[in-house]
Amino acid sequence: MSSVLSALADALPADVLVTDAGIVDAYRRDRALTVQPGVPIALVRAASTEQVQAVMRVASAHGVPVVPRGAGTGLSGGSAAIEGCIVLSTERMRRIEVDAAAMVAVVEPGLLNAEVKAAAREHGLWYPPDPSSFEICSIGGNLATNAGGLCCVKYGVTTDYVLGLEVVLADGRLIRLGGRTVKDVAGYDLKRLFVGSEGTLGIITSATLRLRPPPPPATTVVAMFDEMVAAGMAVTDIVASVRPAALELMDRTAVAAVESVKPMGFDDSIGALLLAQADGGGDEAQRMADACDKAGATYVALTDDEQEAELLMGARRMAIPCIERLGTVLIEDVGVPLPRIPDLIAAVERVARERSTLIPVIGHAGDGNFHPLVTFDATDADATARAELAFDEVMRAALQLGGTITGEHGIGTLKARHLVDQLGPDVLDITRRVKAALDPQGILNPGKWV
Ligand SMILES: Cc1cc2nc3c(=O)[nH]c(=O)nc-3n(C[C@H](O)[C@H](O)[C@H](O)COP(=O)(O)OP(=O)(O)OC[C@H]3O[C@@H](n4cnc5c(N)ncnc54)[C@H](O)[C@@H]3O)c2cc1C
Repeated sequence: MSSVLSALADALPADVLVTDAGIVDAYRRDRALTVQPGVPIALVRAASTEQVQAVMRVASAHGVPVVPRGAGTGLSGGSAAIEGCIVLSTERMRRIEVDAAAMVAVVEPGLLNAEVKAAAREHGLWYPPDPSSFEICSIGGNLATNAGGLCCVKYGVTTDYVLGLEVVLADGRLIRLGGRTVKDVAGYDLKRLFVGSEGTLGIITSATLRLRPPPPPATTVVAMFDEMVAAGMAVTDIVASVRPAALELMDRTAVAAVESVKPMGFDDSIGALLLAQADGGGDEAQRMADACDKAGATYVALTDDEQEAELLMGARRMAIPCIERLGTVLIEDVGVPLPRIPDLIAAVERVARERSTLIPVIGHAGDGNFHPLVTFDATDADATARAELAFDEVMRAALQLGGTITGEHGIGTLKARHLVDQLGPDVLDITRRVKAALDPQGILNPGKWV
């Protein structure tokens, strides 16, 4: 047994340390299936903060890389294993305490997002951030990627709900940032630095999350268009005058892919499907419907029926796995300023045409955050090369439109080489200096983007 493994075995209970190759193999990848993971030396399924600290003390003493892992649903290769690393899974860290009077939940990272929502609901409260993967992703992963979702257009993303964090640093020290107060400006806002840091600065072992009263019932608007660009125009019009509670877009191929798995009666003629929700009362829903009509929608309907709405939103949430049935997918996560949405859609269509590559588009349109899904046959070398060029070109188009290469999935491994194009050398240099200050040996999720 190597000295690292024997040090881990000395520091941890036997059932926490796993070296069985078959089991470890299941923890090597996330959902960015094009990312080739390395082979870890061990998997640790930590059950407590103390065990996470023990792992980091051993890792820093031996200079061994550690890849933190939530549920492995990430779409950027953030939790993909690195050769010779320890994979540190938080799946057993599942404690939660809801303080209804303070309207907060103190959560451990291994809980699923859906479990946090359910616990809040038992107290008549709501935890809003709702990635489409909410039933399968961990709250730790949400914090580490600053996850977004469907209702974020109105209610904000993960970081907007973080009051406090407990983080284990690379050397095993435990720090506490923030607390339970709604307002707190003591010192730098370091908790925001850790939110979205993708496991490169520390391991989040607990978070104090803000809860809200549940939102009012929503009216759902469903609109169909012949063309995506027309739907994009409806989106820019809607967000200029209404605060939608959700505003989601799917193109022709995405609708057909979902329809083939879960038939809902959408026919082939639909070029784009826009799903919007309004919970602000008044004539919000009607104004959204009017904007769709004005942009040339071929069909617009409104419903207050919760089940029907959930069926439609469920179809949107299924889009990525349904499109993955069509081929290997490189998942984009670009974002643009809202008025540039039609330009982004047009640019994606141009790239798809020029590279003869299928690029279905879905997106949290109200945030200007889109997932063009570059879909190809990985057994065909030429198709793979064209897809890789298309992947790069879509990100470049987003940057040219004043946008970002990632709105919510993070940089991970997949977009690492593009980060400098967005940040520029000076900001990347400062980013690396922050990383070096917190993780001088570079053992936390190294070789990814920082
Ligand atoms: C079908 C589908 C739909 C999706 N829809 C959305 C969506 O709408 N919005 C969205 O934002 N994302 C979406 N995602 C992506 C993914 O679910 C999110 O990024 C999620 O936050 C990842 O959580 P996880 O627990 O799976 O994290 P993992 O994939 O395990 O890890 C993600 C990153 O966080 C780090 N990490 C994990 N836990 C910790 C911790 N405790 N401390 C420090 N670092 C940690 C990892 O090292 C890695 O870099 C979707 C994914 C799928 C498969």
